[in-house]
Amino acid sequence: MLKGKVAVVTGGSRGIGRAICMELAANGADIAFLYAGNTDAAAETCEQLAGMGVHAQSYQCSVADDAAVQNTFKQIAADFGTIDILVNNAGITCDKLAMMMSEEDFTKVVDTNLSGAFRCTKQVIPLLVRKRSGKIINITSVSGLMGNPGQCNYAAAKAGLIGFTKTIARELASRGITCNAVAPGFVETDMTAALAAQKDTLTQNIPLKRFAKPEEIAKLVCFLASPSADYITGEVIRIDGGLAI
Ligand code: NAP
Repeated sequence: MLKGKVAVVTGGSRGIGRAICMELAANGADIAFLYAGNTDAAAETCEQLAGMGVHAQSYQCSVADDAAVQNTFKQIAADFGTIDILVNNAGITCDKLAMMMSEEDFTKVVDTNLSGAFRCTKQVIPLLVRKRSGKIINITSVSGLMGNPGQCNYAAAKAGLIGFTKTIARELASRGITCNAVAPGFVETDMTAALAAQKDTLTQNIPLKRFAKPEEIAKLVCFLASPSADYITGEVIRIDGGLAI
């Protein structure tokens, strides 16, 4: 389905991003992924991708660093020859009630989760426009749809990502490029491991009564990256077990 396509996944070393790398590779795409600093996790993802018969490479690059993003995307285009799919997945949390949150805590989450997606998208636009095709998929969150106490920084960034998605979709539609967002609820990753003590209570509020597996999010992303989704753009798809119904 994606044979011959090159996908760039930010935050591909762990969690949802790693599952997205695996699913895209299982469908034939070559994979370049970015990670922040966890070299052991990145090496493990590379090892898993190595057996899948696709070209795969990791790049240590913070999406919060514009110069690093520019250099890394230039390097990826040189290493892979092109880029067809971008998944803006890299994200962090720094949860605190607004009255306890510093300006720095707010800004760093927005700078990674929202501005990071802008920096990466800006790098792929000229390539995709030249090809008159391409898929951009942004990982937002139900926090951006519903709000969530303790996450005013994260929810603002994720809500911003939805406006960003719709705008990019409108700007690039005439060039055959789609841009969509996926909004997970709770997913079993390192990010939610800190919620272990509250997991039973949180699960009670999910109609399907469980957290998602990263692979479930990855399948939706892969669908949006595939030709089956050619007529879908500017959409936000919740994948949350009904949490935000
Ligand atoms: P995770 O397990 O904490 O993994 C985060 C990934 O992002 C890692 O690969 C990390 O790299 C990378 N990363 C963090 N900061 C980065 C930066 N500045 N530059 C480049 N890469 C960076 O997170 P996850 O749960 O898989 O979440 C993935 C995405 O889904 C995030 O955008 C998150 O907001 C969203 N999401 C998650 C959930 C959930 O319940 N887990 C729900 C809704 C939405 P290192 O390994 O190098 O640190």
